[in-house]
Amino acid sequence: MLDWNDTPNKLPRGPQEEPLNKPQYRPGYENQPEQEAGPVSQPEASVPDPYAVADGALRQPETGEDEAITGLEQVELGGDRVQVDDKRIINCRADVNQLVPFKYQWAWEKYINACANHWMPNEVNMSADIAMWNDPNGLTDDERLILKRGFGFFASSESLVANNLVLGIYKHLTNPECRQYLLRQAFEEAVHGHTFQYIVESLNLDEGEIFNMYRELPSVHAKAAWALNYTQSLNDPDFKTGTPENDQTFLRDLIAFYVIFEGIWFYAGFVQYLSFGRRNKMTGTAEQMQYIMRDESMHLNFGIDVINQIKIENPHLWTAEFQEEVRAMIDEAMHLEIEYAHDTMPRGVLGLNASMFDEYMKFIANRRCAQIGLKELYPGAENPFPWMSEMMDLKKEKNFFETRVIEYQTGGALSWD
Ligand code: FE
Ligand code: MN
Repeated sequence: MLDWNDTPNKLPRGPQEEPLNKPQYRPGYENQPEQEAGPVSQPEASVPDPYAVADGALRQPETGEDEAITGLEQVELGGDRVQVDDKRIINCRADVNQLVPFKYQWAWEKYINACANHWMPNEVNMSADIAMWNDPNGLTDDERLILKRGFGFFASSESLVANNLVLGIYKHLTNPECRQYLLRQAFEEAVHGHTFQYIVESLNLDEGEIFNMYRELPSVHAKAAWALNYTQSLNDPDFKTGTPENDQTFLRDLIAFYVIFEGIWFYAGFVQYLSFGRRNKMTGTAEQMQYIMRDESMHLNFGIDVINQIKIENPHLWTAEFQEEVRAMIDEAMHLEIEYAHDTMPRGVLGLNASMFDEYMKFIANRRCAQIGLKELYPGAENPFPWMSEMMDLKKEKNFFETRVIEYQTGGALSWD
């Protein structure tokens, strides 16, 4: 169970407490010191030539060109084993089917932690939410609007993010431990899609209205349309990384989806839903959103690590011009978010109003800039929702984490009797 007050859960600590690998930093805490939210754990001793061919590399037999490996190349019997130094986050020329030895320990640790955070939406009891939704006096019209528009935004967003991972990112991220995390993340996006189906079904909402909102409400449509530009360029069958221009295209997609979509846009929704929970309204929905937020904060931190690792291995991509372009992308996305905040909250509700969201989004955007090494966009922006940091606080995160590990290890055990 999640806890809406400030008392940390005092749960018994099971024998599973220690066996999981300890992360090098805990994901998703807005109040973490900057050095802990930051870049990759294993900086390269020296920067390799990003377009050089590793020893023992596979080559594309049909063209003879040196291209990034996908993992579907022919396997040579007796071919060389992959050495850790052959591994590269993009444009790897060594076989990507060998998970170990790990080069990017941070990616493996996120995979382990993500699995330990397993949850399913239909485990959350929705009866109080159903009663409140059906009570004509249970919620105001403005509260109903904010809930429904958020469901609409998230429902299509989970699908867009999942499709980007599988159809855009996966092929070009040429590292097996990162792909291991992507496979877990893709499943989590399916769980999140399931969550909105489950909420819509539980509350007996008009599913056509919720699931078509990205086609019908301009501020939701605008965000989907903006993000699609970035994934469409990667999904072009002729797109290949391996030139500075295309590698920057790949980075743009990572920034659009991990830093902006999951890392900035989702946070307005999290504040809105968690505000219901804090007022003891729609607590089942709020609990689900808190689980989603925990997953998303790890997606964000994985994306930041990937981006920073690409920068370490390919410093030529991170030009002053490119940095300015990324800052402009973030600023543009900010304006779309401000429109969305006004559409979901035409009037103040739950102690929230749209101008607080303008400020919060700017505060979050500044943090994201810092996390990928950009100059901040909105100097002086402050956090109007300090309780959000509390919601992502280390102790609570660890407590959910422990209960989930225990429940799933028990519930999922096989019996041979
Ligand atoms: Fe998601
Ligand atoms: Mn996600």
